[in-house]
Amino acid sequence: MIVVMRMGSGAAEVGGVIERICELGYKPHVSSGAERVIIGVIGNDRPLDPEHFISLAGVEKVVPILQPYKLASRDFQPTDTVIRVNDALIGGKGITFMAGPCSVESREQTFEVARQLKEMGVKIMRGGAFKPRTSPYSFQGLGEEALHILADVREELGISIITEVMAPDEVALVAHYADILQIGTRNMQNYRLLEEVGRQSKPVLIKRGMSSTIEELLLAAEYVLSQGNTQVMLCERGIRTFEKATRSTFDINAIPVLKSLTHLPVIADPSHGTGRWDLVTPVSLGAIAAGGDGLLIEVHSHPEHAMSDGGQSLRPDKCRQLLEDLSRVAAAVGRRVDLADGVSAPALANAVGVKVNAA
Ligand code: PEP
Ligand code: MN
Repeated sequence: MIVVMRMGSGAAEVGGVIERICELGYKPHVSSGAERVIIGVIGNDRPLDPEHFISLAGVEKVVPILQPYKLASRDFQPTDTVIRVNDALIGGKGITFMAGPCSVESREQTFEVARQLKEMGVKIMRGGAFKPRTSPYSFQGLGEEALHILADVREELGISIITEVMAPDEVALVAHYADILQIGTRNMQNYRLLEEVGRQSKPVLIKRGMSSTIEELLLAAEYVLSQGNTQVMLCERGIRTFEKATRSTFDINAIPVLKSLTHLPVIADPSHGTGRWDLVTPVSLGAIAAGGDGLLIEVHSHPEHAMSDGGQSLRPDKCRQLLEDLSRVAAAVGRRVDLADGVSAPALANAVGVKVNAA
C-alpha cells in the first residue's frame, strides 16, 4: 500500500503518517518527489485497511499495491528510475553499454581490453574478480588482486567498473573498488547478500536467476530496495529450458514484461543468454528493439586464451561492429547509445551522433 500526500503537505503531516505506520507494525518508505511525498507501507502480507490512513492530515489518497513487490512496482513509482554512474546515466533515454572480459585474468589482459573499449567510447567496463564457477576446479578469479587491477583501470582510463560480489562479508570490499555491484544468477536468491548490498550506497545490478521467474527477480530487487538502496537495475541473462542449441534461452519476453511492471532499468546480457559469440549481436539488437535500457557484453582481446567464457566473448572488432549496428537500432526506437565523446570510429560516431575530437 502507498500513501500519497497532498501537494504542499509538511513534515508534521508526513510524520503523522509515519507514526501510524509504525504503530501498526509496518515500516515506512518515504519518497520525496518534486511535487509531493509518497510513503510506502512496507511489511508483512496481511491485508491492511486504507481507513487507517485516509483520515490523517495531509493524506490525498491511499493506493493498494496488489503485487507482492511494492517499491519495485510501477504503481509505486510511475516514472523510470535513472541511475547516475559517474558520466553515465542508466535508465534514461540513452542505451547503456557495459563490456569487458568475463574474468580479470592479469593486469596486461585487463588493460589491453580496457584501452580497446575506451577507444570505442565505452563508459562502463565489466570484469569478474570473484567468479562463481560451476566446478570448484575451474578458475575462481583473482579476488582482491583483480579489484586492484580494476581500480587502476578506472584511475588511468576514467572508465567505470562493474564487478560481481558473491558473499555478504565481501560487499564492503567490492563496494570500495567498484562503481556497480553485480549479483550473479546463482545468487539472485541469496537474501543475506541482497540485504547487504541494499545497506550500502553503490548501484546494484541483479541478474535473473537461471531458473527464476520474473516475479522472483522483482522480489530480489525488493530485498535491496527495502534496505534503502534505490539504485537497482535488473538483468535478463537467459534461463534454463529444454533447448540445447544454446547455453541458455534468452527470454526476450522478460524485457517488455519488466518494463511494464517496474520503473527499474532493464539490462540484457546476451553473452550468457546465448553462450555463443556469433549470437551476441543479433540478440543484443533484439533486446534493445524490445525496450531494454542497456547491454552487458563479454569482450576479450584473445577469446581463445580466455580463462572463462571465451566461446561467448566478442573480439574487440566485433564489439565495435555491434556498437555500429546498435546505434542504428537505438535510433529506430528513438534512443541513442550512451558513449563518451572522442570515439575513434567515424562511422560509429556519425551513426550515434556523438561529437568527435579531431585528434
Ligand atoms: C558473469 O557475468 O560472468 C556471470 C558469471 O554471469 P551469470 O551470473 O549471469 O552467470
Ligand atoms: Mn561470464
